[in-house]
Amino acid sequence: MRGVAILGSTGSIGVSTLDVIARHPESYRVVALAARSDVEGMFEQCRRFRPSLAAMADDEAAARLRVLIVGEGLPTEVMAGNEGLEAVATHPDASDLMAAIVGAAGVLPTLSAVRLGRRILLANKEALVVSGALFMAAARASGATILPIDSEHNAVFQCMPPNFATGLDRVGVVRILLTASGGPFRRHALDELHGVTPEQACAHPNWRMGRKISVDSATMMNKGLEVIEARWLFDARPDQIEVVVHPQSVIHSLVQYVDGSVLAQLGNPDMRTPIAHALAWPERHTAGVAPLDLVDIARLDFESADFERFACLRLAFDAVRAGGTAPAVLNAANEVAVARFLDRRLRFTGIAEVVERTLTAFPHRAADDLAAVLEADAQARQLAEQQAQRVV
Ligand code: NAD
Ligand code: MG
Repeated sequence: MRGVAILGSTGSIGVSTLDVIARHPESYRVVALAARSDVEGMFEQCRRFRPSLAAMADDEAAARLRVLIVGEGLPTEVMAGNEGLEAVATHPDASDLMAAIVGAAGVLPTLSAVRLGRRILLANKEALVVSGALFMAAARASGATILPIDSEHNAVFQCMPPNFATGLDRVGVVRILLTASGGPFRRHALDELHGVTPEQACAHPNWRMGRKISVDSATMMNKGLEVIEARWLFDARPDQIEVVVHPQSVIHSLVQYVDGSVLAQLGNPDMRTPIAHALAWPERHTAGVAPLDLVDIARLDFESADFERFACLRLAFDAVRAGGTAPAVLNAANEVAVARFLDRRLRFTGIAEVVERTLTAFPHRAADDLAAVLEADAQARQLAEQQAQRVV
């Protein structure tokens, strides 16, 4: 029986995780849950899974949840704020942490669990983008196992040899091929992109996800963040990572070997597959996902990524090559720009512009310690807000 804690339990990944867990009550106990503001959603989860601890981001939401929990007589303690997030991430009864908060808010609590040597099911890609070197060093030091949940990285992990951490060259891996659907605007007229709405941007052709990652998929910043994520998870050089557009989202990614072999992982686009893979690893169990029907799919298409249409992808490759705090700056500026776009305070095409302006204006710095990275994150957010006011 494994104890599981979940950061971001009411979100798309959190709900899918609880769905998989509910299919295997003999294998998992839900120990602690954290979410931002969805009190009703959290209360329902507490009723169903009876965790020892539930945390909400703000005091007001926590107070409302506490009233409901006490009224129902549930055995769940309620906490609030960063203290609550930390307590969920490091709960003594949890062996595994599902890190599924969106954005840089997930960095510190996830790192705390890494330092305790926990098994980390990592969905929160921003944590690796912001602090990849420190994150992986902390995992090596504590012996924490990092299992990628992002479908591409989970696919790559499944296609890698078991000893890949000894170095890609040593194990004969030449290249990681990350597939990308191309999002909803792959074929949209370029001169109409500036007018697209948040609703259009969030209508992903293959996946149902949270709003932030949906916008990232539409700009292809999501793939850019995933390039940086792959760089750290697999200790790959930027030139060992390639992006291939594959509109059907059936091949989730591939690994190319020195002898010409290319291994791929396929499956229906349903996040319960990578979640079940990571929960059960190194074993396998059911995920509730329909079997893949290749005849029904009939064909798989591939094309190269268009770096002009998707400037965010180019900017992410620039940032990973530049190193230092550049990926943290890229991520912070993107979070600011996407939030503005979702609030209708920035055009869709303004997202890449804000990110590029912020990266250009921000001085290059080393990312040697967490304080430097968090300072760059905070300063880049301020700078991005200023730059956003100049973008029409
Ligand atoms: P979502 O918006 O649906 O859910 C986010 C969750 O985090 C919610 O439970 C929310 O309450 C919680 N949260 C957000 N900010 C918080 C804060 N400051 N404090 C406490 N809780 C907070 O997002 P999602 O689609 O589930 O994505 C979660 C993460 O997983 C993201 O980093 C995303 O990039 C990654 N991811 C998601 C998918 C997917 O299919 N949805 C695929 C790959 C990777
Ligand atoms: Mg992905």
